[in-house]
Amino acid sequence: MIKLSIVVPCYNEEEVLGETTKELNGVYEKLLNSQKISSDSKIVYVDDGSKDQTWPMIEQFSRDYPNIAGVKLSRNFGHQGALLAGIDSVYRDSDAVVTIDADLQDDVNAIIEMVDEFEKGNEVVYGVRNNRDTDTAFKRNTAELFYKIMGWLGVKMVPDSADFRLMSKRAVEVLLSYKEQNLFLRGIVPMVGFKSSKVYYARKERFAGESKYPLRKMVKFAVDGITSFSIVPIKMIMGLGFTIVIISIILLIYTIVSKVRGQVVSGWSSLMISIWALGGVQLICISVIGEYVGKIFSEVKNRPRYTIERDIYLEKKNMEN
Ligand code: UDP
Ligand code: MG
Repeated sequence: MIKLSIVVPCYNEEEVLGETTKELNGVYEKLLNSQKISSDSKIVYVDDGSKDQTWPMIEQFSRDYPNIAGVKLSRNFGHQGALLAGIDSVYRDSDAVVTIDADLQDDVNAIIEMVDEFEKGNEVVYGVRNNRDTDTAFKRNTAELFYKIMGWLGVKMVPDSADFRLMSKRAVEVLLSYKEQNLFLRGIVPMVGFKSSKVYYARKERFAGESKYPLRKMVKFAVDGITSFSIVPIKMIMGLGFTIVIISIILLIYTIVSKVRGQVVSGWSSLMISIWALGGVQLICISVIGEYVGKIFSEVKNRPRYTIERDIYLEKKNMEN
């Protein structure tokens, strides 16, 4: 029997939390009855600075059910920060940690299969969705493009796996030894290594409420993912720079030849186009470099990746002992 912790990041999820609790408790019971997990296993909600009734609900569930606990962050740290806070709070006294979104898009029953895979000796078990039917065409296409770009840049990711996965205590320890601020879990988890496997499931619509990932956050997520794993964009800029220098040398020769032949002053339009094109290219290049400089800036500051305001998980643990 293993001690399992199920970590659930929640940001303004009052509409789904009741149903989520029902479903997760269902799976919990099943695992308990089949003697796969011990009775001190826990479901741990991480409140990521919600502004609605999410935290009072989590407190209520913690009172009602001995197997539910909550961790409240002092403000919104984002999905990745919330996941990290949850994992970090529970892994020390768990054999395995499962992370799952609060919105019931991931099939909770897959957790049972994940536990089976863990018992077979896998230290990381990825939840992989076998369809993207429930996503909008836009999200589907952008996601596909994103995975493609990451592949080109040489970042190993498990396609179509989100942040629904099981990790052993040992794998979590390694994960937490990656100290970077710009944490992109999907990219880092495969770097942890160890024996891993996949569990397939059908991803559903969000049970209720709206996606907490508007386009703005999605773009930021993608840019962060790329720039925290690869310096290929910087290398591309260098290539671009060389190409432009070669073109300008050719242009220089052409200009001199034209001058010698006495056909000057025409070519105003090509000049203007060059100025604009080069200006644009330069701005893009500077912004790419700026992105990395910004990353260095935030790494150097080494700020805490999350701050816990209240930890009911710990309170319960202390009471149990
Ligand atoms: N989430 C979070 N902090 C945030 C945004 C989202 O903890 O700043 C949680 C959210 O409550 C959910 C999960 O992260 O449990 C995934 O978010 P969502 O379902 O909105 O993303 P999508 O499935 O649309 O990509
Ligand atoms: Mg979702």
